[in-house]
Amino acid sequence: MSTDKKIESSQASEQALEHRKFRDDEFWKELPGWASVPHDEFADHKWQNKNAIRKVEQVEKVLGSRVSKETMDDIYAGQKITPMNIRITPYIFALINWDDPLNDPLRKQFLPMGSQFLPDHPYYREDSLSEDVDSPVPMLTHRYPDKVLFLPTTICPVYCSYCTRSRIIGGSTESVEKSSYGASQKKWDDVFEYLKMNPEIEDVVISGGDSFMLTAKQIKYIGENLLMIPNIRRIRYATKGIAIFPMKILTDDDWVQAISEVHKLGRSMNKQVVIHTHFSSPKEITTWSQKAMDRLYSEGIIVRNQAVLQEGVNNTVEDMVLLTRQVSYMNVQPYYVYMHDMVPGCEHFRTTLKEGVELEKAVRGITAGFHTPTFVCDLPGGGGKRHVASYEYYDQENGISVWTAPYVKPGQHFTYFDPIHKLSPEAQKRWSDKGTVETMIKEAVKKAGY
Ligand code: SF4
Repeated sequence: MSTDKKIESSQASEQALEHRKFRDDEFWKELPGWASVPHDEFADHKWQNKNAIRKVEQVEKVLGSRVSKETMDDIYAGQKITPMNIRITPYIFALINWDDPLNDPLRKQFLPMGSQFLPDHPYYREDSLSEDVDSPVPMLTHRYPDKVLFLPTTICPVYCSYCTRSRIIGGSTESVEKSSYGASQKKWDDVFEYLKMNPEIEDVVISGGDSFMLTAKQIKYIGENLLMIPNIRRIRYATKGIAIFPMKILTDDDWVQAISEVHKLGRSMNKQVVIHTHFSSPKEITTWSQKAMDRLYSEGIIVRNQAVLQEGVNNTVEDMVLLTRQVSYMNVQPYYVYMHDMVPGCEHFRTTLKEGVELEKAVRGITAGFHTPTFVCDLPGGGGKRHVASYEYYDQENGISVWTAPYVKPGQHFTYFDPIHKLSPEAQKRWSDKGTVETMIKEAVKKAGY
């Protein structure tokens, strides 16, 4: 082999093994406020909880001279617009590249800056997926015949700027008033009763909010009650926790034991109990993530990943391939990558459908099929998740796609729109005229056969 060929081949294999490198340095010590925090303290879930960033003032306190006045002003401005509270674990906060916060994928996801926001799309909805419409009892969405979404809590260990349930999750903000907060256990029994009365339901997603914020007792109470319902065959606890707070898996033994006991009970009844998590950026992953996954894996618990496609976070082939390979390496099964929902305060995160289709093409084939995520668009209006390339018609120039969901909502059609700022200047001009927009949508729907 020639020297050039040898160099090329060793570079190729280095790239192919990139996903096996896990960050293992004391990264938090780079921040003035935490420079003297010992490893064991930083690794403790109680310390992480106690020191979570909940106010902009704490950002300044921890970063000291690492943050410029301009950046701080931008963060303060973000608080006036965002529909989400601030809550960031020290783990994630310290992983942000504070030399370039504007472009950092973790800062983008959890600490909004005023300068990043764009006007909402004219067809955005607060409840984009129509979860409230398909809700037969409080805290429950029943859309697919055999599956329900149970939301027992409205709080999370971090608040994501891209949250699809920003209308209910976390506390009120300067821009949004929210009526509920926390875990309202009194209403859970109504949910269990509904599930008993509807024997076609077999699958329950326990989300929220985030299952990390349920106590060990609540994890068991919910899990055991669900498993005792004869028709329930599958339970999924949804939590972003493993991605943004792996220390809880490693040091909160009561919580891990609770979920492990529910899992064992499920197995003894031939029922599935799994965890769904949300790694969205390879930058969220360290040796702590790998160790947390090793613990869950040794308990026999299957973990699947659902990422959200976000501009500047994971919308490059390089990042998506690394994310897919790295979570797979930790025994997390890449399950879904979602097109961003059309919710308020998120236009800067959204990508075009074309980008989703292209990324899915690029990722398919990099690893085994069962570790290849399905790229989906969760249809506005409640059509459910559809493969990104399964639209009926897509007007790429004007960013209008038309979809159907024959089994979920027979006879109905749904529309999803690309972010206007990503369209050509001519198309952007067309979107500025209401009459033209209505005509464009009607034409797209007609071309789709409706
Ligand atoms: S963890 Fe999930 S529910 Fe909570 S803020 Fe993030 S996206 Fe929303």
